[in-house]
Amino acid sequence: VEKEPQQAGLFAGYNIFERVDGTWGTQDQVYIDSPLKETGLRAYFDALGSRATKAALGDWSQQAGVLPERALRFLLSVGVQDRLEIKKVTCAKNPAPGSLFLGAPGRTSDYGQNADYAIDGLADLFAQQNKALSQLVWKTACDEKDTGWLLARYRNNASYPVRTSASQLVCVLRDSAWIPQNDGRFVRPAQASRDLLPPGFPFDESFSWLKAVHFGAENRQRLEESEKREVAARELGFVDPETFERAKRFAELPEAEQVQLLEEFQKRRRQELPEHEPRHPERRAARVAQQALDAPERITETSERSVSVGLDDVKQRAAQYLREQYSRDGEMVCQVCKAALPFTLDDGTFYFEKVEFLSDLRRRHYQNYLALCPNHGAMFQYANGSHEVLRSGLCELAGHELEVVLARRNASIHFTKTHLADLKAVIESEESEAEADES
Ligand SMILES: [Zn+2]
Repeated sequence: VEKEPQQAGLFAGYNIFERVDGTWGTQDQVYIDSPLKETGLRAYFDALGSRATKAALGDWSQQAGVLPERALRFLLSVGVQDRLEIKKVTCAKNPAPGSLFLGAPGRTSDYGQNADYAIDGLADLFAQQNKALSQLVWKTACDEKDTGWLLARYRNNASYPVRTSASQLVCVLRDSAWIPQNDGRFVRPAQASRDLLPPGFPFDESFSWLKAVHFGAENRQRLEESEKREVAARELGFVDPETFERAKRFAELPEAEQVQLLEEFQKRRRQELPEHEPRHPERRAARVAQQALDAPERITETSERSVSVGLDDVKQRAAQYLREQYSRDGEMVCQVCKAALPFTLDDGTFYFEKVEFLSDLRRRHYQNYLALCPNHGAMFQYANGSHEVLRSGLCELAGHELEVVLARRNASIHFTKTHLADLKAVIESEESEAEADES
């Protein structure tokens, strides 16, 4: 046969091929797979099950006493199948008849075209979600150098242009969930991700069949959409689309609900603020009042030389005192921000401004300072709209927050219970001292 190929026909129709199941068949009833050659065809015929008209060849070369290469050459020469066949069929079963033969103009003639492509039974077989079969189909599509099978073509005669549409095979490949992914799913090509393809599915973007079946299209679309959302969110001043979505959802709430949520949030934030409470309020007040009498006097015109006497000392004590009052879980807060101070010094302690609270006291008391961030420190000193009412405001204060106007905006200063009680004790002490002086 090798020397005279035309002789191959001699073997046609004879049951001379022993199959793996021990029966014998003609060249049309066998196909090649291991052990002769790994073609992967077994996956297809096994999937067909009882519908299969072919069986794998047994170890035919050994029985015939020839080398596998020669055996293969012989088998191919007599037409034994060694690859999955993309069959040329008519357009009759194409899912888009309107684009092909339905309504096609002209009378049919010898110059008509009616070509479509299919693999027998493939749509049903894909329902089995069989990775070996998927791999065989993938390989078949990649190996087929002629891409004619991607399109069905139809015309009635040469007077009209050829009408084309996706071939039946492309439609099946495009619409079936046959692509295995590393997470165990089988998905339609459009849903598939190249990165999730298991081994045995070589990917090359230049394969036109991958485009024809829309491989990765949904992923690409999702990417484009998420990029668009990202840009839109940033243009509106949100850090990311998720934040924008949350803001939109918040805005959709009834107004009363929004206000309530914000109030609850503020309340929770306040609850988390450092909270110091004197353990023995009366005893503490008495002690503070006593200390207050020993506090260094403020600068007066008559005692210019005492300007700095004791001031450094007071400020140092104030720093320590404020650190105690306004730290919680290793974090120190600004009394106006009611949130963590912006930065720490090289030694790890929080930087804060020690700003004198009431400037109309006779003496310098270390309790008469606020712990503020640099911003609020500057505002309190240079843009303080409440300067005149700080003292009365504090003395009448029922809660924790002293309302003030800083840099022409409403704000509030948070006090711990201890700080508040100490300040009141200091003020009272000064007042009784003043009364004593008058009398
Ligand atoms: Zn602040």
